Amino acid sequence: GKSGERSYTLTLLPGDGIGPEVVAVAKEVLSLTGSLEGIKFHFIEMPVGGSALDAVGVPLPDETLNTAKNSDAVLLGAIGGYKWDKNEKHLKPETGLLQLRDGLGVYANIRPAVVLPQLVDASTLKKEVAERVNLVIVRELTGGIYFGKPRGFGTNDNNEDIGFNTEKYSASEIDRIGRVGFEVARKRNGKLCSVDKANVLEASMLWRQRITMLASEYPDVELSHMYVDNAAMQLIRDPKQFDTIVTNNIFGDILSDEASMLTGSIGMLPSASIGESGPGLFEPIHGSAPDIAGQDKANPLATVLSAAMLLKYGLGEESAAKRIETAVIETLNRGFRTGDIFSSGTTLVGCKRMGEEVLKCVDSLM
Ligand code: ATP
Ligand code: MG
Repeated sequence: GKSGERSYTLTLLPGDGIGPEVVAVAKEVLSLTGSLEGIKFHFIEMPVGGSALDAVGVPLPDETLNTAKNSDAVLLGAIGGYKWDKNEKHLKPETGLLQLRDGLGVYANIRPAVVLPQLVDASTLKKEVAERVNLVIVRELTGGIYFGKPRGFGTNDNNEDIGFNTEKYSASEIDRIGRVGFEVARKRNGKLCSVDKANVLEASMLWRQRITMLASEYPDVELSHMYVDNAAMQLIRDPKQFDTIVTNNIFGDILSDEASMLTGSIGMLPSASIGESGPGLFEPIHGSAPDIAGQDKANPLATVLSAAMLLKYGLGEESAAKRIETAVIETLNRGFRTGDIFSSGTTLVGCKRMGEEVLKCVDSLM
């Protein structure tokens, strides 16, 4: 690690369902990793989602948002559950997550999709296609058709009902997400594929123009462009060809879910959402899994790997991040599996035990 003691305040938002179980594991992994790498973590735990609704009547209490904003990074478990599914929109747990993203100003969502050699059989792909898949999708999170105005319902000239939305991107919005794409590619294997629909959409034409201009600032990154329909196909046909993908909000929404399903391991996949300055938000891509909550069955590795992303992308602590990633791989090498990734010949363990095994590996490596 770097020299001297570094100290960070981390906001932990365990949330609902399996959230508290997996965040508890990640907290211990962070603590131990910190102590071995000369990093001190100060944890503050706050309510969010359904548990906040039950406690104080809103899904994102002001105190939770303020604590998050004033910390160095935020680690979230999961939000939601059957109990609140019939609530009105402003009293839905998921609304708390949207408010949190908004409040933190995070505009870039980074989602790796990795097929680890130990888990090739979990993939929906044929073995020879799945092997060595290791890609990251960088998705724009605060612009595009999900936010563009005008939007709404109306009637057309024939007095028929219509619904309409607007895809809009400014040059500066494209440049800032583009830079994240180039930076992530630079930290990986130096290959960036920008995905758009520049043959049809003006917003995509500007997108391609700006990304192409940015490339001159990153001579070490090899840039390519792909239309989104082709990208959706190539992700299934030959996902190994991708290293880092950068794309807009709606294309990224769809492609990142597609990519995660290729791996077949929802309990293994982390994500990061980052903004201009201020703390980033790190969370597993899976939901609150109410079907297994409170049973010590959840796979904590997606959250542990989210903690590694927090170190890497949120704090710039790359050596500590690497230690956690290596420990997760070693835990799998030693044969430990939660139910979601179990296969014959491996050792079935619960959430807590999986955490203990990761801690042993964190301790014994490097
Ligand atoms: P969302 O909350 O994103 O709207 P969802 O509630 O359908 O979607 P999840 O909560 O992620 O999705 O659960 C989907 C399935 O995957 C469930 O059967 C759940 O038990 C399982 N699952 C999700 N996360 C994990 C995990 N960490 N460990 C084990 N199983 C998991
Ligand atoms: Mg859910």
